[in-house]
Amino acid sequence: MRLILAFDIGGTNTRAAVFRAGTRAPLRRVSAPTRRGRGSFLAGLFELGESILPQGARVEGIGVAAPGPLDTRRGVLLAAPNLPGLENLPLGEALSERFGGAPVFLGNDANLAALGEWRYGAARGHHNVLYLTISTGIGGGVICENHLLQGETGIGGELGHVTVLPDGLLCSCGKRGHLGALSSGTAIAAWTRAALEGGAESCLKGEKASLTAARVAVAARNGDALAQEAFARAGRYLGVAVAGFLHIFNPSILVFGGGVSKSGALLLNPFREALGESVFFPPYLDNLKIVTAALGEDAGLFGAQTLVQLAREDSPLSR
Ligand SMILES: [Zn+2]
Repeated sequence: MRLILAFDIGGTNTRAAVFRAGTRAPLRRVSAPTRRGRGSFLAGLFELGESILPQGARVEGIGVAAPGPLDTRRGVLLAAPNLPGLENLPLGEALSERFGGAPVFLGNDANLAALGEWRYGAARGHHNVLYLTISTGIGGGVICENHLLQGETGIGGELGHVTVLPDGLLCSCGKRGHLGALSSGTAIAAWTRAALEGGAESCLKGEKASLTAARVAVAARNGDALAQEAFARAGRYLGVAVAGFLHIFNPSILVFGGGVSKSGALLLNPFREALGESVFFPPYLDNLKIVTAALGEDAGLFGAQTLVQLAREDSPLSR
């Protein structure tokens, strides 16, 4: 039996699935907490893969969605802010060695989520796709003419780290004013907290320490003006940034994934307004579909499977 093994490595949990080559439905899948430290992390990954492989199966290819930045050509994790100790880890080599010399294909998790949505999810049938996942940070992925944009070494498509406000708040990467520092869930909570510390009136006054974007959303829906402004602000900056992405990539569909994108009108109304004001030519919006992701937590796993599948099919996407 020819099988494809797919991994999606997260800061908290790692998911794995095994697919029969050429099919979409996984034969088996599993999820376990991501282990800390180099040796333990790799051992955990090996065990997870082995636990779902049928006896005597031959692994045809391995796809891995991993938190960036990574070098997709060499199969190396360059840095993993949420997983200390994994810097410069030759993950591709280690997995290949363990699973019978199978070729390993690596991708940034958000890039591969975009690929999964393009192949199996909300963006099926579209040739030019923009994908943004908005949760604690903002990740992005671009499909350009049916080609996953990864760049020269695989660190391309980092849409969440585009600078929107040069003197703005600090991003998780350490630079200022990135989209992720303005429109992510973390950013919404941080801005609200700062406003409360500055003496702003709000029903959230007593919750400074425990504030989350989800809590701010509840307050906003209950009519709290400060909470509404927190979302309006995040939505406006998102609109400004996405207008720039439309000018560059001219996609036919924009897919929103991640928890914060489920805030609905709170975020999307100011987003659409700013988008309309920021594009310089209406045709960018004329045929643009704006949808929510369809694959949920499985997007990265399906993207990892797709990466291997495309290499087998010798598609341009395998390059
Ligand atoms: Zn950043």
